[in-house]
Parts: sequence; structure tokens; C-alpha cells
Amino acid sequence: MGALLVRGGVLYPADATDQVVPDGAVLAEDGVIVAAGPLARVEAAIEPRHRVGLRTIDAADQMILPGFVNAHWHEMFAMRFPFKGALRSASDRDDKPVFMALGGDVPQISVVFDAFHAHIDRLTFDEAHAIARYSMWTQLRSGVTALGDVGSLNKPQALVQAARELGMRCTVSTWAADAVCAPGDSRFRRTRDTDLELQRIEELLDDCAKDPDGLARAWPTAVYGTNMSDELALGLADLAARHDVPFATHVGALRNEADVMLAYYGATPVRRFAEAGLLSDRFMAVHCGFADAGERALLIGAGAHISHSPAKYGQAGESTVSETRMIPEFRRAGLDVSVSTDGAAVPLGGMPEAMRAVWQLYNEMYADPTEVLPTDALAMATRLPARGLGLGERIGSLEPGKQADLLLVPADDWRYLLNPRPLEGFLSLGGSMDVDTVIVGGRVLLEGGRSTGLDEDTLEAEYLDALSSFTVRCLGVDADAVAARLRQRTEATARRRRAVASRGAGREELR
Ligand SMILES: [Zn+2]
Repeated sequence: MGALLVRGGVLYPADATDQVVPDGAVLAEDGVIVAAGPLARVEAAIEPRHRVGLRTIDAADQMILPGFVNAHWHEMFAMRFPFKGALRSASDRDDKPVFMALGGDVPQISVVFDAFHAHIDRLTFDEAHAIARYSMWTQLRSGVTALGDVGSLNKPQALVQAARELGMRCTVSTWAADAVCAPGDSRFRRTRDTDLELQRIEELLDDCAKDPDGLARAWPTAVYGTNMSDELALGLADLAARHDVPFATHVGALRNEADVMLAYYGATPVRRFAEAGLLSDRFMAVHCGFADAGERALLIGAGAHISHSPAKYGQAGESTVSETRMIPEFRRAGLDVSVSTDGAAVPLGGMPEAMRAVWQLYNEMYADPTEVLPTDALAMATRLPARGLGLGERIGSLEPGKQADLLLVPADDWRYLLNPRPLEGFLSLGGSMDVDTVIVGGRVLLEGGRSTGLDEDTLEAEYLDALSSFTVRCLGVDADAVAARLRQRTEATARRRRAVASRGAGREELR
């Protein structure tokens, strides 16, 4: 691969000191960082062997950031038509709070989650692959270089293949659930063979351990305690221990969760994971805004990792951060608290939006603009989630020995005028679409906001084809309605292409 020099930008290495280097640079060799820091020091590290075929990227007037690590995500793009889907009316005036809102309709959520297995089974591999590729591309486009899948409505092997084709990192999982807390019942009901669930994740762990390029990894996850028998929890703990990997689950996510778990399983959510032996410093608690005092002590004592998705909660009707303030208090108590996007059938706010949300929310809650500094928000999107994924030695900061996963984000327009702190300008007024360049393991995957190796229109067209066939065949949505909705997009794409072509022709005439 040779050497790569990224020079001349404002470098945010997101290392343990959270330093900022105004005239910074990064030197990588064969995809691994050799030097990162002030330009003069990095240039001094260039050896004669680096100069042979050295590729230089001019990062003047840009920020150099580590790639974002989105440790809690779900591939859900097959479900764009049901729920809050593509056939909604344009007006939002008749919207009602449902599902996750107002503390959560937990039995209803449990039933919906239980039905996911059937959807996953009905996806063909080609559909699963086309959907995964497009869905993961939207993450890469917004600066995510490493994903953590906490259960997807997709096939894990399709995610693995898509990660390799896109050149991004993904720690994949299965949709691990074997029970349901159905409305009207008084006990959980078993819906799947626990051993088969465990076997599927074990096969995935074995497959990914053989991954040649290190892009795809696997970890065991549980979707939600409501859909997990005690036997499944014990089996997952055994797998995490034997394969020496972290474990993630949604837990304490909704106000009404503990009452339902107590009624259907006889124990509160965090305690169930603790009793299964899963609580440790390799336990990633996703959302985790609701827990009693004893459970809080268990999480803090274990040194658990908390991943939350503050750019998504208001949109879904969740009050995960502000209702209890538990997550910011976990951070004050010294736990690693990271941000993530979560996943839905439509693109949610990306990692820059999540960074902005913690920066604004926490500081507002404590009336203190130093509660979360912009560089703290960056660490919560890079170094900390990398550690939560068990990849802290490989990615998450720009330091010698780590993979060259980095982003360039422009810092030279009116938003940054006379502001010596471009990250602050970015969090105030920037967003996912500002990401200009994405590099993973020294390979440039995005440049000027465009894919370097893939035709984006083709990615989208193949996604829409797969979405349409799955939706009509498996979800019972009216074929004409789907076709009409997709036609609107196809026509818009054609208009955009004609506009680009006519602008090109105009330039030719001027010459
Ligand atoms: Zn989630």
C-alpha cells in the first residue's frame, strides 16, 4: 500500500490528553499510523523508504479527525415501508406518540422484536446484501469508519460482505432473541430454540475470527431483556467469555421496562444481566437511562460501558437522557459514556449530530459549558466507543501503531471565521454532510464527499430494487403504492442527472 501523508490541517488526535494540534499531520505506512502531531515532527519521521510512492493529501483549512466509531447501530433499511414509513402523508399534523414514546409500550415492542426473525429469514441473500450495502454506505458517507451491530433486520453474512466491499469496519452480531412478553400474558413465552440462537452467534464468531483483512468482527449481543430467556443470557455470557469479546444489549432503555421485566421474569433488567454473569467492564449497556439505585451501583462497580444515542431520542419520544439524568451521572462517576446513532428504517442523525446533542444537552442540564467540551464530545464518538467495542488498541484515535482511520472536514467557511476552534464551529453549525474525506486503514474511500470506488446512483438503485421486492413479497404492502413511491425518487434522480448534464454543456459553450 505504501505511505500516506495527510498534512496541514487542525489535528484532533482524540488521544488520552485530548490535545489539539493547529498545524498537524499524520503519516501512515501500509495503513498503520507511524507519526501524528505537529507537521514539523511528522515530516521529520519520514524515512527514505516512505518517499517511494508517497501519497500526500493536502489538509490545509480542514480538520483531521479520527474516523467515527458508531458502536450501537442496527441495519433496518428493509423496513422503510411499515411503521413510520415511506407511505406516510407529507403532513405531520396527525402524528400520535406510539411504541417507544411516553415510557414505552414494552409488551408491544417485545412482540415486534419477536417478529424480526421471520423477516430476516424471508429476505433473500441478494436483497439482504443490496440493502446492507446501501445502508452501511450512508454511515460511511457521514464519517463512520467502524460500526457495532447490536442486532439487525438483516443477515449477518450480508453485513460482513458489505463491510468488505465498502472497505469499512463492522463488528457484526445476530438478532439474538428467544422469548416474548406478549400483551395480556403474565409470564414470558419461549418462541425460539435457545441452542440454535447460540449456535448462530457462535458460527459467526468463528467465521469472523478467520477474517483475512480484519474489517469484519463479531460479538454476541442480546436485543432486549424482554426477549431473552435466562438460558439465552447464560449462553451469551459463556460465548463472550470463551471468545474473549465484549457483549452489548439494550438495557434500562425505557421508563416502563423494569415493571414489565419484573412481571414477566421476576427480576429487573440490569439484575438479570448481572445474575447471568454478563456485567463487567466489557458489558456495553445501550441507552441505560432507567435503573434503580442497586442497579446503578452494579453498573458503576463493574465499570460498564454506556452507549447512548442523544440525536435520536426526541424523534422517537424517548426521554432517556433528561428524565433521570442517569447517563450524564454515570459519566461523572467515571464510566465510559459514548454516543451512537442507533438504527431505524430511515437514516437517523449521524455521529456529528450525536456529538452536537451531548455537547448541548449535558451543558444545558448542568448550566456549565465545560461539562462536555467539544473535544470530550469527539472522544465520545471515537476513542471511547472503540474501547467499548474491544478495539481500543487498533482504532479510535490518531496515534502511532493504530490503524489510519481518519476524516477530513472543511474548516474554512463563514462558520469558522476568526474562530480558532473549528471543532466548536462544526458542532454548532456542521453536520454529517460536511464530511469531505474518509480514510480507512490508509485507503481513501470518500473524497470531496463522493465515493472513490462505487457508483452511488447504482448503490441506491440496487437498494430500491431489493427494498421493493422484499416489501411487496414479504410485508404485504400494496405493489402499486410501492411502485408509485419509488417512481417519485427515480424521476427526481433523472431530473438531477439532466441538470448536471446541462450545467456541463453550459460550461462547454463558454469555452
Ligand atoms: Zn438500538
